[in-house]
Amino acid sequence: MYIKEDIIRLKKRKGITIFCHNYQTGDIQDISDFVGDSLELSKKAQRVESSKILFAGVRFMAETAKILSPMKKIIFPIMEAGCEMADMVDIDLLRKMKKENPNAAVVAYVNTTAEVKSLSDVCCTSANAAKIVNSIKENEIIFLPDKNLASFVKRQTNKKIIPYNGWCYVHDQINENDILRAREKHANAVLFIHPEARENIQLMADYVLSTGGMVKKAGELKANEFIVGTEEGMVYRLKKLYPSKDFYSLREKPPLRCVNMKKTKIDDIKISLENEEPEIILNSKIIELAGKAIERMLILS
Ligand code: SF4
Repeated sequence: MYIKEDIIRLKKRKGITIFCHNYQTGDIQDISDFVGDSLELSKKAQRVESSKILFAGVRFMAETAKILSPMKKIIFPIMEAGCEMADMVDIDLLRKMKKENPNAAVVAYVNTTAEVKSLSDVCCTSANAAKIVNSIKENEIIFLPDKNLASFVKRQTNKKIIPYNGWCYVHDQINENDILRAREKHANAVLFIHPEARENIQLMADYVLSTGGMVKKAGELKANEFIVGTEEGMVYRLKKLYPSKDFYSLREKPPLRCVNMKKTKIDDIKISLENEEPEIILNSKIIELAGKAIERMLILS
């Protein structure tokens, strides 16, 4: 019952900063110091003074924080909370693609493992993918792992995009009927779609945005109603930020829910704060190489 108070007391006493992705449950968002998308959290991880960070999200995000701040202790409560899309990348296949396309730069979405990042030239997020692709000198790009984000980028560049065949099952399952039903139910609402949705779905949206982009756009627009076409956790975040506006999940049954994002429960946060573990440990060579790809993204974005 008093778990939130216990957590707030514990993190203060131990000097641990809690980072939380937009897709975490509302109770975890409420006890966190920073809530945001991958890009926002990566930037914050570098700047935050505390030497210990607890990361509520999925593993690649905690790894990214470790890569950017190797001297910091990164506590990640549930090690099994991976990302299905990140795990789709086969290292041998990536090496083969690089060999077959020797002039191509490898642009890796941050939703990749540390090892994949270490084999890439630069990282990107859904917020800056097109900007990164257009900023680098190469005209051929191996883009991984998300084929849907790749098609979003393709519409914003003249460069040759060679996509990896990966996808996020949460967004890739959105179909045209979901859009039509939501539009019918909320006729005056603005429709946001995440670029991990399929191209035909992106083309039906009013705005195709990263979660950070949704936060910004919902604040800028005069509209009072929004259909949120991404993981359900985002609705809580938007409602909390803009209590006078209405936000609806694009689909409630079955919900757009990422099982891995929901593996961390508030009790796990408390236990991890008490024990200061489990901790993210990465090989120093991987940290060095993956760090270059992430740093390059931060400079270009
Ligand atoms: S929502 Fe999709 S991309 Fe994000 S962690 Fe879940 S499976 Fe991975």
